[in-house]
Amino acid sequence: MTSRQVRFTTEELGSLSRHFEGGQPQEVLRWALGEFHPDILLACSFGGASGMALVDMAAQVRPDVRVFYLDTGFLFPETYELRDEVERRYGIKVEAYESRWSPEAQAREFGEELWSRDPDLCCQLRKVEPNQRALEGARAWISGLRRDQASTRADTPVVQWDESFGVVKVNPLAAWTEEQVWEYVREHNVPYNPLVDRGYKSIGCTHCTRPVRAGEDPRAGRWSGFSKTECGLHVPLAEKNPG
Ligand code: SF4
Repeated sequence: MTSRQVRFTTEELGSLSRHFEGGQPQEVLRWALGEFHPDILLACSFGGASGMALVDMAAQVRPDVRVFYLDTGFLFPETYELRDEVERRYGIKVEAYESRWSPEAQAREFGEELWSRDPDLCCQLRKVEPNQRALEGARAWISGLRRDQASTRADTPVVQWDESFGVVKVNPLAAWTEEQVWEYVREHNVPYNPLVDRGYKSIGCTHCTRPVRAGEDPRAGRWSGFSKTECGLHVPLAEKNPG
């Protein structure tokens, strides 16, 4: 662990994760925000219901919760509208992190439509590096990862050390199912991206998101035509640099 994160060993984080297993996400958020705020940020893509449920829960624990998103420059208009609605409803200013490369500069340097040729590089430039910048100086971040979202997420702990970004990573919804998230969203009248009701079950950039058909994996609409299933934000270092 780095020097700014000296309070918990990996073993202690593992023990905390087991402690929270079976508990409610709000309990995890109370601990995390109590322990780390203001050095903790909640990542919300304004794409899926999980992030929205988390924002709603976190705002009740700390009305001044810090929420950030990665503005890739290729988001849907509905996504920006939802961001604005969140700011109004919760009275917060969502922090935006953009790529160092404007879409035009990226096209000049790496060629047109990089996402159609090398989506890993495109995600690195527009998501992973900005995410690193968002977490500079932070001690922890909160993600909406759930084990039922994909086989790559099946082992997600509630609390873990995130080697990629050098901070504690908190996944309060790790054990929740999609049904539980939607139940929460409906019960608390939480706003969500209207594209979901048009078949977009997982929403990212316009270039790499399509609606899914009945029976398809919810994430099948992301990077359709590529084996890629993750943007790189939630991939362990060992898998990014095999061997
Ligand atoms: S999701 Fe697509 S357009 Fe967005 S950063 Fe990744 S590859 Fe680029």
